[in-house]
Amino acid sequence: MKEKYYKLSPFVHQLPLTNNEYQTLYNALTLGLVVVRKDVVRAINKGLWQKINPATLRHLQMIKAVILTEETGFKELQKAQKFFKRNILGVLCLMLTESCNLRCRYCFIEHKFPKGHRFNSMNFEMAKCGIDVFIRHLPESLENGLIDPTVSFYGGEPLLNLPVFEKSLEYIAVQKEKGKLPSKTFLTLNTNGTLVSSKIAKILKKYEVSVSLSIDGPQIVHDLARPDIKKKGSFHRAIAGIKLLREHNVNVGISCAVAMHNLKNLEEISEWFMDEIEIDVFGFNILVVGGLPEPNFDLNDYSLQLGEKMVQCFQIARKRGKQEERSFRLAKSFADGKIHYYDCSACGQQLVVDPRGRFGPCHAYLHEEKNFVSPDYSINLFSHSLWQEWKKRSPLNMKACLKCIALGICGGGCPYNAEVREGSIWKLDKGFCPFAKSMTKFLVMEVAEKAIMNYNKGC
Ligand code: SF4
Ligand code: SF4
Repeated sequence: MKEKYYKLSPFVHQLPLTNNEYQTLYNALTLGLVVVRKDVVRAINKGLWQKINPATLRHLQMIKAVILTEETGFKELQKAQKFFKRNILGVLCLMLTESCNLRCRYCFIEHKFPKGHRFNSMNFEMAKCGIDVFIRHLPESLENGLIDPTVSFYGGEPLLNLPVFEKSLEYIAVQKEKGKLPSKTFLTLNTNGTLVSSKIAKILKKYEVSVSLSIDGPQIVHDLARPDIKKKGSFHRAIAGIKLLREHNVNVGISCAVAMHNLKNLEEISEWFMDEIEIDVFGFNILVVGGLPEPNFDLNDYSLQLGEKMVQCFQIARKRGKQEERSFRLAKSFADGKIHYYDCSACGQQLVVDPRGRFGPCHAYLHEEKNFVSPDYSINLFSHSLWQEWKKRSPLNMKACLKCIALGICGGGCPYNAEVREGSIWKLDKGFCPFAKSMTKFLVMEVAEKAIMNYNKGC
């Protein structure tokens, strides 16, 4: 039998354990690992079914056979415990401006400003401070296993602050030349795409910036939720932006916010992205609290539907060798057998610099003093209490998650949503859980079906 065996099931396989082993293995099992003896796995892998106790075999079939050996079970547990001690800062998010030329209905940034608010924009000194602090944290992060340091430019609409954007890119390029930033440092721009010009596309190409451009689907859907400040749809301008970027060979992916205007058609929208926009990678974003109120919005309905549809979209994309990023992340963690500790880099791995120059882990607190601190060149984010707390915010440290089927691959969704809806970042992000659970069930069932098919063939 050639199947690879995966962890991640909440089911417990009973083993004869010594007293000393019991507590450790119990802990491993609460991490969502199924543990069996090594000789059982060896026999399964060699197709020597007769060597396995029939009761064990029946049990493994029943629980859909998601397996770790005792040995790897212990190792996995130790790894998980060590993980939270590692210092890693992998993402610098520069919020270049609060201002935006669009007023997307669900935007958690623009709708929260009071009337008459004077929008702040970052100056270069603030950006430089963020970049320098990020650089200072990199050697330790790389030593601790960071693979892809990322600087992401965010807003509002970041292209409204083009001078600081360009100057920051120049500064980053110099730091790369000096060897202070790894040459592989990944640069990304999150934009609505409507302001992209040839000049901007050339800048993006010159500095090898990848673009994540927001499109919600075909025009009829997109324009429902993404009007400009004059209430005009932004679809054609966004599509023109993609075209220009492509003409200049800029790497473009699509970011699609999922709200009530497009939820029902998510499968068709996935196909449209691949067929009409010819995109290889797109990502669905689960709503962050803070947009305009939706009259018929029900969180439970939204998240249940979203969970089911995301599984469908994952399959649609996979069939064509393409990716929906959010579901792909979970599937990859499952296939690689690696725990997905966080689904959001704000969990201790990210420095956000806001348009006033403040430092924080998450951009969504922009309108508050909470979760932001004053800029400080000498700050140590690894020992700062704010980043330390966010770093621990993983389902693996949350009691409500310990018996969940999705524990190992979930990552825990959005702590900000959990706080706004439930009062603390340590609560569940209930808009996210159904998605993580649906995805896990689908993946487990898929593996199980193949395993059982192979088992039946071998009998
Ligand atoms: S906590 Fe939520 S809003 Fe903040 S960065 Fe993470 S996903 Fe975004
Ligand atoms: S966050 Fe939700 S889906 Fe994820 S492990 Fe916790 S309970 Fe399960």
